[in-house]
Amino acid sequence: MSDQATPPSLYAAREPIFPRRVSGPFRNLKWIILIVTLGIYYVVPWLRWDRGPDLPNQAVLLDLANRRFYFFWIDIWSHEFYFVAGLLIMAGLGLFLFTSALGRVWCGYACPQTVWTDLFILVERWVEGDRNARLRLHRQEKTDFRKVRLRLTKWTLWLLISVATGGAWVFYFADAPTLFVDLFTGQAAAVAYITVAILTATTFGFGGFAREQICIYACPWPRIQAAMMDEDTLTVAYREWRGEPRKHSEEAKSEPMGDCIDCMACVNVCPMGIDIRDGQQLECITCALCIDACDDVMERIGKPRGLIDYIALSDEKLERAGNKPRAIWKHIFRPRTLLYTALWGGVGVALMVALFIRADIEVTVAPVRNPTFVTMSDGSIRNTYDIRLRNKNNDERLFRIAVQGDPAVRIQLEGTPYASVSVAADASHLQRVYVIAPPNSSPAEAERTDIRFWIEDLSNGDRAYKDSSFTGKGQQ
Ligand code: SF4
Ligand code: SF4
Repeated sequence: MSDQATPPSLYAAREPIFPRRVSGPFRNLKWIILIVTLGIYYVVPWLRWDRGPDLPNQAVLLDLANRRFYFFWIDIWSHEFYFVAGLLIMAGLGLFLFTSALGRVWCGYACPQTVWTDLFILVERWVEGDRNARLRLHRQEKTDFRKVRLRLTKWTLWLLISVATGGAWVFYFADAPTLFVDLFTGQAAAVAYITVAILTATTFGFGGFAREQICIYACPWPRIQAAMMDEDTLTVAYREWRGEPRKHSEEAKSEPMGDCIDCMACVNVCPMGIDIRDGQQLECITCALCIDACDDVMERIGKPRGLIDYIALSDEKLERAGNKPRAIWKHIFRPRTLLYTALWGGVGVALMVALFIRADIEVTVAPVRNPTFVTMSDGSIRNTYDIRLRNKNNDERLFRIAVQGDPAVRIQLEGTPYASVSVAADASHLQRVYVIAPPNSSPAEAERTDIRFWIEDLSNGDRAYKDSSFTGKGQQ
């Protein structure tokens, strides 16, 4: 059969990338961000915060069993999850803001995939050597003792990091010291082991082997980011008008040469394995390591730095025309970024206000409508309500429940002859309450009477209320 019978394969195997070590300001910035972000991730579950007796003393804890989120001095109940929604909205707006000002800085510096891949590459380089040594090892067909030793050492270190990553994650959901012991003594819940196993596998696979494939094929962000960028966005680019024709090109043989000496340093350090001189590419995460590499080369050959640089499209037009680029602050402070900043700040202020004005007493009232009312033996009409009281204080409180509306109605609490109920510290209590209207009274005869439940904290006089209605016999 001829070649026509065999369609070309649509599958292309991954070409391994072996980024070369590079140093410079952007690399240093990435190291700082890596240390800070990983430090926060691994250390935070071990921070303690005294909330008094009966409450967890872990500074940051997502207590799923009790549906509570503790964050240092703030604790959020399940019905207050709008705070978390607000924080997510702020995170999204922050991402929009940074992307519109500086392109994919999130991808290049702080995305977990980037941070862990950086860490794995650091380990790889430490065990197997820099780019050339790793390339030689990769191309070595014979599997000798050295190759096995290096591979096993590298994979073992990767595995330890991966287990620590999965382990740190579950510590956010339970008391970390207790869970740490439980995990090693086989006493932890199955879900903890499963979570650690899944995160270990994903960290090992994504950081060790899939690496740039996750950014290129699995992550939707590169496709979305274009909507947030415009021609004023600063992003990593090659000053082709200054660098071309490069040393080895055909044109350079006849024309005056550009500044690019075609040393490939920018390509060799790129964790995505691309050549920024080919123009903007979806694969570029704007990590700026090629800037460090090229600046180093430019310094060594006595040319100005910045052949590869953070450049805006609008400046490119200016520079090509021989003009100076605009000041960086003009790219950062423009209507689009100011709008994102205002929205971000607005949501932040709203959350802070909501946090500081929230009441220490939370009340919900649910009328029991099956049946809507009961006629008692003496002819009085009784309605039933379920009142949930949340005591957000760190000590037990006594709450008095009263009803306001028609003076004829009276209240009765199930299980107690008193009009008050005790609620434990930082807990909620469901109390069944009866509201009774005497025979022939206006609420008993009317179809519907508005009433208001008042809850008073007897220790400090704080009050809260909830409106509801009383159902009488009406037109029956
Ligand atoms: S590092 Fe600079 S000089 Fe070297 S190939 Fe890249 S752009 Fe050209
Ligand atoms: S081209 Fe430069 S900025 Fe883009 S991913 Fe590669 S090294 Fe990072």
